[in-house]
Amino acid sequence: MSGGYTGKMLIIDLNKCTTAVENTDITAAKSFIGAKGLGAKILFDRLPKGTDPLSPENILMFTTGPLTGTRAQTSGRGTVVTKSPQTGLFLDSHFGGIFAAEMKKAGWDFIIIHGRSKSPIYIVIKDDIVEFKDASMIWDEECFEMHNRLQRNEGPVKTAVIGPAGINLVKFSAITIDGHRHAGRGGSGAVMGSKNLKAVAVSGSGKIPLHKTDEFQKQASDVLKRIQENDFVPVRRKYGTSYWVKIINDEGFIPTRNYQEGFFEHGEKINAETMQKKIVDGSGACYNCVIACWNKSSIKSGPYRGVSLIGPEYETLALMGSNLGISSIEDVAYLNSRCNELGMDTISLGGVLGFAIEAYEKGILTIDDLNFNNIGWGLTEELSKLIDDIAYRRGKAGEILAEGVKIAAEKLKNNAEKFSVHVKGMEIPGYDPRGTFGMGLAYATSDRGGCHQRAWTVKAELYDPELERFSFKNKAKIVKDAQDERAAFFSLVLCDFAPISEQDCVDMLNLATGFDHTVDSYLLAGERIWNLIRLFNLREGLNTADDKLPSRFFDDPFTVGPAKDVVLSRKEFQQSLEEYYSIRGWNSKGIPTVKKLKELGLTNYIKSTS
Ligand code: SF4
Repeated sequence: MSGGYTGKMLIIDLNKCTTAVENTDITAAKSFIGAKGLGAKILFDRLPKGTDPLSPENILMFTTGPLTGTRAQTSGRGTVVTKSPQTGLFLDSHFGGIFAAEMKKAGWDFIIIHGRSKSPIYIVIKDDIVEFKDASMIWDEECFEMHNRLQRNEGPVKTAVIGPAGINLVKFSAITIDGHRHAGRGGSGAVMGSKNLKAVAVSGSGKIPLHKTDEFQKQASDVLKRIQENDFVPVRRKYGTSYWVKIINDEGFIPTRNYQEGFFEHGEKINAETMQKKIVDGSGACYNCVIACWNKSSIKSGPYRGVSLIGPEYETLALMGSNLGISSIEDVAYLNSRCNELGMDTISLGGVLGFAIEAYEKGILTIDDLNFNNIGWGLTEELSKLIDDIAYRRGKAGEILAEGVKIAAEKLKNNAEKFSVHVKGMEIPGYDPRGTFGMGLAYATSDRGGCHQRAWTVKAELYDPELERFSFKNKAKIVKDAQDERAAFFSLVLCDFAPISEQDCVDMLNLATGFDHTVDSYLLAGERIWNLIRLFNLREGLNTADDKLPSRFFDDPFTVGPAKDVVLSRKEFQQSLEEYYSIRGWNSKGIPTVKKLKELGLTNYIKSTS
């Protein structure tokens, strides 16, 4: 048995409420590393083609990587892997907290759940003891309340729960981890809800096996020292990600009023300094993280006085602040907290609400549809009511909007798709690609839809003198390399925000597992994972035409701010996409070639391309 992995996976069949144990495939783990990558392989191998994501047959996995729960910094991360009900494609949704480390200490590399319980339940896992408990009376409890209940009733467990949005199968519902962290994107909460599974609680008393314990601990200490010396870490610790509000607004590409503009005239009212002055009380951290980027906040005045939360982060400030025309930090924090309690992804919800306001202004959504709720830009109370309607699928608007902007636009017709901002059904985050064109290619080619975490080119495009931000030139290679690197990194699995070099990642991986990866073979594993997921998505119906961007980014130039008049060119975007396919070794239809699959050791999957 190699170190790094516990060597065991817990298989849960909810149809019969039974469990089984399987060995972790360590040979596959060397090629696919863990969390995202090994999860993708298992999903591809075990999920029948065309499975309805909300059917009992879909597989919901909580996955860890070889560094999870170790002394490596930010090693409390874990991943939910499933087929997304929002996109119909592969989904990996990464989360912080302690849950994943605890799962590993309980002896499980992966928890693989399939089937559907006959009635609502929750699962308690204490080392290798698994219990199924009735959740009928607490089925629609909000997330934090449910987390507290589990801690009261089951002892010091770590938790993964869903709220009302998950049980009502809202397509962008989240799984809430340890009360405050989230597997936010892609609707994994709805997959859990479709299985009649309210929560998973876990506690573990074991140790994570390591190949070379002393050398690993020394390497982890050296990495810790490098993180502590990194100039950027104090900024991250003080502000979380909120400092990006000023930068992205000043550069003119923060989503504003459903991406109609990229500059918010009240940006200073929702930026990091205002947040620090008005609502932040202190910081906090996930398991084993010296960066400690959480903002512990509370609202101290106004109608929402007394509400507390961790956040808001940049994406929420953008999508539920400027994108909704909200100019009060307390109001953004309040909407963030409602979204957390109901169990939804703030990025997607912000996109959905912005779309709804614009549809209402254009007369496509009516006051009747909205249950006489007169929503508009900056109207916090009305938007709060609509948030509840969406979580509970109340009224026509609540029902339609709970499907996300893609489906909502299809149902509302009347050219609503012209202002529906999503990629492959997933609403996009807080960096309008009219501000840094590389993000357009990153969104269009992301493996899970409109996501910024696969290739975040913003910093390079703004500050690298070799790169022109308003151009697609040289972006294809940057996007491809970042996607491969992140695929490997999210398989270890560590936190996005951790400044850890590729060499340090490889050294820790080898010392933990006994593998002999080099930086090249580690990055090749990332490329292998990316290609396998592409094959999965193609198998599930993706085609080249889906690698596209919302029409707003091509048709509607900004009218204010530093990026005034900027708009993307369809021709240049297409050329960049073709360049990307070519660099990837894919054919003109975006399908990996046989040569590329052989190079990556994916020959077993060649038949899936024909
Ligand atoms: S950097 Fe922040 S989000 Fe990442 S592990 Fe540390 S505390 Fe958690």
